[in-house]
Parts: sequence; C-alpha cells; structure tokens
Amino acid sequence: MTVKPIIEIKNVYKFFGDLAALSDVSLEIKPGEKVVIIGPSGSGKSTLLRSINRLEEISRGSIVVDGLNVHDPENNINSIRQELGMVFQSFNLFPHKTVLENLTMAPVKLKGLEKEEAKAIAVDLLKKVGINEKADVYPSKLSGGQQQRVAIARALAMNPKIMLFDEPTSALDPEMIGEVLDVMKNLAIEGMTMVVVTHEMGFAREVADRIVFMESGRIIACAPPHEFFNATEHPRLKQFLSQIL
Ligand code: ADP
Ligand code: MG
Repeated sequence: MTVKPIIEIKNVYKFFGDLAALSDVSLEIKPGEKVVIIGPSGSGKSTLLRSINRLEEISRGSIVVDGLNVHDPENNINSIRQELGMVFQSFNLFPHKTVLENLTMAPVKLKGLEKEEAKAIAVDLLKKVGINEKADVYPSKLSGGQQQRVAIARALAMNPKIMLFDEPTSALDPEMIGEVLDVMKNLAIEGMTMVVVTHEMGFAREVADRIVFMESGRIIACAPPHEFFNATEHPRLKQFLSQIL
C-alpha cells in the first residue's frame, strides 16, 4: 500500500515582480519522511519553506498539507499552521518572556490549554532539549545554541505533525551547532516529518531520506543521500557540493 503524502507541492511558482523565486516546483513528502533542502543563496529554499505554511503567498500551483490546500482562502490557515512547527535561523524568542513562558504562550492562547497543562508539557520539552534548568531565565541569558533549542521546544509545544527548519544552525558559533543538530536527530528518530534547509552535509547524509538541490527557483536534483552524493549527471550540483564539502 502506498502511503499518502502529508505535504504535496504541485507545480508551484512564486514571482517577486519579474523574478521567479520558485519555478514549477513539485515535491511530495510522506509522513515521517525527512527531506533536506540545499542550494546556493537565493535559490528559493526559504521561499519554498515559507510557502508551505503560507508565510509567503504563491503565484501558481498548489500546496496541500495533511489534506488541506494551504493557499485556499476557504481553509483556516491558523489550524493548518498548528500542524507545522517552524524554526528559523534567528531564534525569534520573545525577549520579555521567560523560557517557560515562551513555550506555554501559544498552547494556552491558540489551543486553549490550561496553564498548568501547558507548563507540564513545556517542562517535559525543555528536558528533551536538555535545558530544563533554564526554565525561568530570559532568552538573553542563554547561548545561541540554547536559544535555538528553546525555539525548537517552543515549536514542539504546539504538537505539530511537521517541523520546518530554515538554516537552524547558520547563525550559531561552530561549537554550538552539534547540540542543535543532536536535538534535531532525536526528533528524526522519533519519527517527526521534517523539512530542513541546511548546509550541514553530515546531518543530511545521516538523517535525510531524500536531499533536494535547488537552483534559480527550481528543483534540480532530488535523491536519497547515497545516490545524491554520487550524482555525476548534474554539473551544477557537483560544483555546489565541491564548494561546501
Ligand atoms: P534562499 O533561501 O535559497 O537563499 P530565498 O527563497 O530567500 O532564497 O530567495 C529566493 C529569491 O527570491 C532571491 O532572489 C531573493 O532575493 C528573492 N526574494 C525573496 N524574498 C523576497 C521578497 N520578499 N521580495 C523580493 N524578492 C524576494
Ligand atoms: Mg534562505
């Protein structure tokens, strides 16, 4: 039996004026699948990720998440977004809220959870990302790696079905990259559906079911890691890999 995709991206175009940031992009992602997206700066990686939860409107095509057309104005985007956790390069924590409050706010406000219930979930998640002892401090007191782990925990607090990561380690000092990738690896092992834009090729090799290479708004290659890294038929991909590996 074939499993229905949880994300279906079909013939998507996104124009900024004359510029095609996305050009006929199609991609299906199955539940539990981990897809890593790589490609040069400006190739459309962020635009694609942001289109999945409609932070970006698309110009043509369709994106269906868990059976719902994301860009259909009839559908409630807020309930679709609850299925999609997103983690950005900049951690975007609320600076005037404690770590714990960062995690409990949305579940209380948007999901109607009782404060105590949200707190219990938050404490568990902070343990999971290894920073439960920082529950009562403010984000500014944390290292970049710790802040990003809080940002991941905050996204998980909404109990999403899918996690989107946009270069989650790009703003981090090298010694903090590993701790964030470890949290992401554990999430992968637990079966989370993940779409990750990253240049961490070790992570891609180890975790990805498929790696997607984008250039000029198009998907140029898409294959499991072993095939992907041996792909010789794509000169641009070869060149890109030789620059980052
Ligand atoms: P990547 O994440 O791969 O670096 P982006 O998706 O951010 O690439 O951008 C793809 C292209 O779209 C780039 O040429 C970028 O300059 C352009 N772009 C992105 N966002 C906007 C915007 N809001 N307005 C105009 N152009 C944009
Ligand atoms: Mg980007």
